[in-house]
Amino acid sequence: MSHRHFEGGRLIVASHNAGKVREINDLLAPFSAEVISADELDLPEPEETGTTFIANAELKALAAARAANAVALADDSGLAVAALNGAPGIYSARWAGPEKDFDMAMRKIETEIGDAIDKSAKFVCALTLAWPDGHCETFEGTVSGTLSFPQRGDKGFGYDPIFIPDGFDITFAEMNPAKKHSMSHRADAFTKLVAACFV
Ligand code: IMP
Repeated sequence: MSHRHFEGGRLIVASHNAGKVREINDLLAPFSAEVISADELDLPEPEETGTTFIANAELKALAAARAANAVALADDSGLAVAALNGAPGIYSARWAGPEKDFDMAMRKIETEIGDAIDKSAKFVCALTLAWPDGHCETFEGTVSGTLSFPQRGDKGFGYDPIFIPDGFDITFAEMNPAKKHSMSHRADAFTKLVAACFV
């Protein structure tokens, strides 16, 4: 399958989350992209009305690409818990409420899982590169693991303190951030995106 290439120049990162913009900036440092955030351009944040990670990544990237008339990159991610039929999934941020209370969101997962034997879960990340003409290139990355309660570790963010990636016995929040970033769902999606559209 042939993919459309990013030809250099301005690249809008369709996120108002400073942490995500910094991470994307670092990942794209080797390529000739002039990274600008949606915040810097004061672009409106579209409502995440999609029912999949991919649909939400595409609607965010397309809205930014059209508004800025430049290539835009968006990511949509979350935690999918097997025993909860994939919840919180695309609602991962929303489960933490307007206060972004992830402590509450993690306790909600623990309560809803109850005594289910299957504690497997995965982080998913959909990344979309969109052009102003409506063309999208989308890639999905995952990392599989097991949930563990109570929370452990103070690094990372979101649901990291309850997620132990397969092959490890520490949570993402106990892991050195560089190690997490080398094996995360976002790294997996980025590797696919870079191979298809940047090299
Ligand atoms: P988004 O910004 O709408 O894509 O929401 C993603 C949400 O998924 C975040 O608010 C986090 O709760 C969760 N999430 C995504 N990636 C990670 C991760 O690497 N660690 C922990 N939580 C994550």
